Amino acid sequence: MRYVVIGASAAGISGVKTLRELDKDAEIILVSKDTEVYSRCILHHYISGHRNIEKLDFTSKNFFEEYNINWIKGVEVISLNDEEKLLNLSNGEDIKYDKVMICSGASAFIPPVEGLREGKNVVGLRNLEDAILIKEEAAKVKNVVVLGAGLVGIDAVSGLIGTGVNISLVEMGDKVLPIQLDKYASSIYENKFKENGVNLKLGVKAEKLILDEEKNPKSLLLNTGEEVPCELVIVATGVRSNIAFLADSNVECDRFGLIIDEKGKTNIEDIYGAGDVTGRNPIWPTAVKEGIIAAHNMLDKEMVMTDFFGSKNTMNFVGVATMSLGDIEPKDESYKVEIKVEENNYKKIIHKDGKIYGAIIQGDLSYTGVLTQLIKEKIDISKVTKNIFDIDYADFFNLEKNFEFSYK
Ligand SMILES: Cc1cc2nc3c(=O)[nH]c(=O)nc-3n(C[C@H](O)[C@H](O)[C@H](O)COP(=O)(O)OP(=O)(O)OC[C@H]3O[C@@H](n4cnc5c(N)ncnc54)[C@H](O)[C@@H]3O)c2cc1C
Repeated sequence: MRYVVIGASAAGISGVKTLRELDKDAEIILVSKDTEVYSRCILHHYISGHRNIEKLDFTSKNFFEEYNINWIKGVEVISLNDEEKLLNLSNGEDIKYDKVMICSGASAFIPPVEGLREGKNVVGLRNLEDAILIKEEAAKVKNVVVLGAGLVGIDAVSGLIGTGVNISLVEMGDKVLPIQLDKYASSIYENKFKENGVNLKLGVKAEKLILDEEKNPKSLLLNTGEEVPCELVIVATGVRSNIAFLADSNVECDRFGLIIDEKGKTNIEDIYGAGDVTGRNPIWPTAVKEGIIAAHNMLDKEMVMTDFFGSKNTMNFVGVATMSLGDIEPKDESYKVEIKVEENNYKKIIHKDGKIYGAIIQGDLSYTGVLTQLIKEKIDISKVTKNIFDIDYADFFNLEKNFEFSYK
């Protein structure tokens, strides 16, 4: 049996590892454009100089030998022929597969703002090469613009703080991390960024990147008429799934990406998928779990995706930790909002009819474990008489006669 996995990141690595754990004898081939294994989540530590390339690797030492995996690195899958069960590679070779797992992830999307796509020194933050280029160029230039204040943009800003370059953060929304945080929690980061010299431009649109004759950026023109100086632009305005190589195949995709079911199966027999390539729930733990699930089902060991990571975000920027989970604002007036602010700690819980729908915890994150459980298990808190911020496991866990835990 020959298994081929495309992509050597969260989903692909957990995929090959699980395949080997389940099948000691199979031939396992991993093909990736990446030439290194690294965590995208910590690329900003490379930019800031806190980690070298080796320290970005999330696999164990000698992983490929230990798991007996043939890693074809620095090679792109150009096309997939599902009738012949064949992959066409950028090195000119074709490889046959019995079963394949597509974990090709996503790429940074550069929006069609005038000058952005043709300018030099315009880069996303997705791959190690992006981080290397950002680090090198940031050391040469005076001004950097980060476009987009979502998690990736904020990662870029965090990586650049302290490197000596002038940083401007340009965001269309009226706050940073607009999807994850409410106005208050965002303002804590905004103030910290300002203290660190970051020039915040919120509620504005990028109209045009002004370039010199050699296509080097000079400034970013905003819809307000203001020009923000920049010689390097980091674009963090979203991603697109890497599915171009499936264009001539019968594998079904939609506008988000590859379509898989809860077992990781695509519409074509023996073709599976996992991770960001689906364009749904693009976070690390989901990619890892989907890789494990697809691997099990490739070996006919049934496993389905049930985990709840969906809207949970844990972050730690400029020394402030935050977790946001579920809804960050009430959907309508029937929801209740409880807020507690104490020194550097902020807690907000949104609930209705005894169920918690969302929460933001900033500063001391010790309450997040209980909250995650309350939301995940949809536990009814209406009978708990304590303050909503003081609930602990003892309030809803029960010890059964056979010493198993259950919910009250
Ligand atoms: C800057 C940044 C910060 C992030 N921070 C967090 C965080 O704090 N928490 C969190 O949960 N998530 C975070 N994420 C998201 C997380 O990194 C992704 O969810 C995760 O990397 C998805 O893994 P994946 O294996 O599906 O795809 P990817 O990581 O995108 O990997 C895709 C792999 O496929 C390869 N590939 C692509 N096309 C081809 C092809 N045609 N042929 C061969 N190989 C190919 C690539 O080389 C790569 O090895 C962050 C992402 C970024 C970019």
